[in-house]
Amino acid sequence: MKDSIQDNCGIFALYSNAPCTYEIFQGIDFLQHRGQEYCGIATFNGQVNQITHHGKVLNSFTDQDLENLPGTWGIGHVSLKERQPVKWQSLQGEIAVAFSGNIINDQELIREMMNRGMAFWRGYNVELISKIFLEQPDPVAGFTALAEKIKGAYSLVILTRDGIYATRDVYGFRPLILGQGQSKYAVSSESRALQNLELTVVRDVRPGEIVLINSQGFTTLGQLHSPRRAHCAFEWAYTASIDSVMENLWVMEARNNLGARLAQRDQDEGGLNADLVAPVPMSGIGHAIGYHMRSHLNFQEVFLYNRYADRSYTQSNQVAREAMAKRKLSVLHHAVKDQRIVLCDDSIVRGTQILNKVMDLKRAGAREVHVRVACPPLMYPCDFGISTRTYEELMARKYQFRGDIISVEELRALEHWVAGQIGADSVKYNSLEAFVDALGIPQANLCLKCWDGIRPTET
Ligand code: SF4
Repeated sequence: MKDSIQDNCGIFALYSNAPCTYEIFQGIDFLQHRGQEYCGIATFNGQVNQITHHGKVLNSFTDQDLENLPGTWGIGHVSLKERQPVKWQSLQGEIAVAFSGNIINDQELIREMMNRGMAFWRGYNVELISKIFLEQPDPVAGFTALAEKIKGAYSLVILTRDGIYATRDVYGFRPLILGQGQSKYAVSSESRALQNLELTVVRDVRPGEIVLINSQGFTTLGQLHSPRRAHCAFEWAYTASIDSVMENLWVMEARNNLGARLAQRDQDEGGLNADLVAPVPMSGIGHAIGYHMRSHLNFQEVFLYNRYADRSYTQSNQVAREAMAKRKLSVLHHAVKDQRIVLCDDSIVRGTQILNKVMDLKRAGAREVHVRVACPPLMYPCDFGISTRTYEELMARKYQFRGDIISVEELRALEHWVAGQIGADSVKYNSLEAFVDALGIPQANLCLKCWDGIRPTET
């Protein structure tokens, strides 16, 4: 995973006519890339059973844990920031809640509820969601209250004695996909968990849709008003796994298209004399393949990805982070010497990682390194559940713009400046227009706040 951007959470839920704990365990393991700090499972067998851990799914859950989680329906969670699912005793019976996203007005809502005499343990988003939901007499009223009060993004699963409730905020920021097998019904943050459990991908949960999953299959209990869609565009460029599909667009297809746009731009601007195109693994692979397919330039790996290296951002200081980042990717020297390389990556955040990679290639004898970036320059941090860097840390923010909107001339000037900063022979980004066009999803249905600064919740 890239050291500077992470999704915060992944959720998975399954209803079956047979014990299904092991499949839930597998389901969250297939979502591990969406959060590696905590994991948890809750199941129902007349009561809610719940176990959470600090750590990754495969390293944390023991056979004994899985035996202690009996049930034919349940939910699971992986997270970067907190333990979920959380379990509650309530007038609606025992429930367990797991969610993915971020609430922008959480402090305001907590204050308002505390003024009404409610107490909070740590004030986590999942705690706030649970309390708003449980204040209402029934699940549909609970989901309606959430939609009315919460500003932000949430995909949510709630385990109850009646089955599993699943919903998505009314903008549909974070993905949530339904899947089905023989007497099995599931919902997942990404389709890869469904596909790998041999479930058929049925469809995306609609923004604002309230679904009950039980022995009857999927039942839509309500459809809340959705002012507009705002699917996170970053999912296709970086966050989601390349074997996933969401909103009928395969992630690999999207990345290929984004890489092809970069190749097309090079062709349109007079062509680029290069010997090979290579990815920064792993997130640059789909983009580099797209560049290769459009340009017919040889595709060649120039870095070996060390699957045993831990993530660089968990290290306690910058020196340790950089040492770990070095362990993660080593140069394939034979492929690099004397070559003119087009190096594809998904995005540039702080710029330190790409600078190190360009330097590594130059030290290994690369004649030229031309960096091609699938996403437009990142200008704003995310408010909707992706851990990006702060305003001040974003590299493009350090460049002095003449205006707030990036015109073609300003983009060229920024690219020239970034190339100088990272030691590359050239840098090109996709423009926002090319980026949206490559995805093929109407701009009005996407969240592009990372690039244009516009919160879809305020349009
Ligand atoms: S701000 Fe960026 S990362 Fe966050 S939801 Fe919008 S597009 Fe995605």
